[in-house]
Amino acid sequence: MRILVQKFGGTSVADLECMKKVRGKVREALAEGRKLVVVLSARSGRTNALLEMAHQWSDEPDPAEMDVLLATGEQESVALFSMLLQDDGIRARSLLGFQLPVLTDGAFGSARIQSIDAAMLRRELEKYDVLVMAGFQGCTAEGRLTTLGRGGSDTSAVAVAAALGSVECHIFTDVDGVYTTDPRLCEEARKIDRISYDEMLEMSSMGAKVLQIRSVEFAKKYKVPVRVRSTFSSDPGTLVTQEDDMMESVLVSGIAYDKDQARVTLCGIPDKPGISAAIFVPLAEKGVLVDMIVQKASREGITDMTFTVSRKDVKRAEAIVEEVRHAIGGECVETDLNVAKVSVIGVGMRNHSGVAARAFAALHQADININMISTSEIKISCLIDEREVEKAVQTLHREFNLRLSAVEEQQR
Ligand code: ASP
Ligand code: MG
Repeated sequence: MRILVQKFGGTSVADLECMKKVRGKVREALAEGRKLVVVLSARSGRTNALLEMAHQWSDEPDPAEMDVLLATGEQESVALFSMLLQDDGIRARSLLGFQLPVLTDGAFGSARIQSIDAAMLRRELEKYDVLVMAGFQGCTAEGRLTTLGRGGSDTSAVAVAAALGSVECHIFTDVDGVYTTDPRLCEEARKIDRISYDEMLEMSSMGAKVLQIRSVEFAKKYKVPVRVRSTFSSDPGTLVTQEDDMMESVLVSGIAYDKDQARVTLCGIPDKPGISAAIFVPLAEKGVLVDMIVQKASREGITDMTFTVSRKDVKRAEAIVEEVRHAIGGECVETDLNVAKVSVIGVGMRNHSGVAARAFAALHQADININMISTSEIKISCLIDEREVEKAVQTLHREFNLRLSAVEEQQR
C-alpha cells in the first residue's frame, strides 16, 4: 500500500470554496494510486476565536478544559471535509486524536506526542481511501484530551508519517514553500527547492514561520521528508530533508530575522566566578528564555552582561535581574526594545571560512551598526536597530547572491 500524508493549514480549509481546492489535491494524490491520511487544522481564525471565548467565560481557564474546547476547531474541520469527500464518492472517514489514539504527555496546551497507533491507521486504510485526521490534538494515557501548542497540526502530520514509516509528508499552506528570506521585506527573495532540517530549524525559529519548530525536530529525528507547498498552486514547493553534499556546496541558504527581541544589560557588575550563574539560573528557573548573551571584557574586575529575551518577557527579566543586581552589587539595569536580530544561515558555513567577515563587511557598507553577535556552526546572528531590519536583510541577501539559484551561483 502506498501511503501519503497530506496536511492542510487553517487558510486551506477556511471555507467551502477552499475545502473544494483541498479536495482537488486529494483527488490528484488518489489518482497516483495512493492511500491518504489527510491531517487538518482548524478553519482559519477558529482557534483564536475559541481562545478568546474561553477568556470571556473564565479569568483563568482550566488548561485541561481549554484543550477540550480548542480541540473542537479541528473536529469541525475533519467532519466537514469528510462529508465533502463522501459526497464526491470518495471512501473517507474522520479520525479524532483520542480515537487513534495519538498518545501524549499531560502538558495541556503544549503536549508532546509519545506514540501513535499505526496499526489502527493501516487497518482503517484497508477500508477507506482517505482518513481525515484532526491535527493538533491527542490524549493522555488516562484519556484526557490534549493539544500540541499553536501550529501543532504540522507536528501531528509529521508524527503520523513517522509512525507509518518512510512515508512522505506534504504540508500544504498558503505560500509556495520556504523562501530565502521574507518576500515582504525583500522582493528578490526566492523559493528554496531543498533545505536541510537544521537550516529549517534555524529559519523557523527566526520568523520564517512556515512550520512549527517541533514538527521539524520530529521530522529530523525520524528522517521524515517534508514537502512544504501551496494548496493554491501546483508548484512542487520546498523539500525539507537530510543534508547532502549538494546542500553543503551552497554557502548560505537564507537570511532570517526576528523582531521579537529585547535587550537587557546589567551594567557595572563584578567579574568573578559565579556571576553568570547568579544571573541566568534565576531567569531559567522562572522560565525566561534567553537568546543571545554577551559579556563585555572586564576592566579592573568590573564588567557588563547583556542578553536578549522575547519582548513579552522583558518586564519579568528586568525584575529578576534587578533583584540579582542588589544581591551581587551592580550599577544599573538597562533595557532596549528597539532591537532585532538578523541571521545568515547555511550548512555550507561549516566548511568555508570568511562568511562572518563578509556579512559584517556588507553591514558596514550599508552603515548598519551591530550591537551583538552570536554564531553557531551554521548561523551568524547580529543584533541591530529594529529600524534597519529591512535594509540589513536586503543587504545580506544580495551579498550572498541568494536571488540566484544554487546552480547559477555555482556557475559564477
Ligand atoms: N489550530 C491550531 C492553531 O491555530 C493548530 C494548527 O493550526 O496547526 O494553532
Ligand atoms: Mg501553521
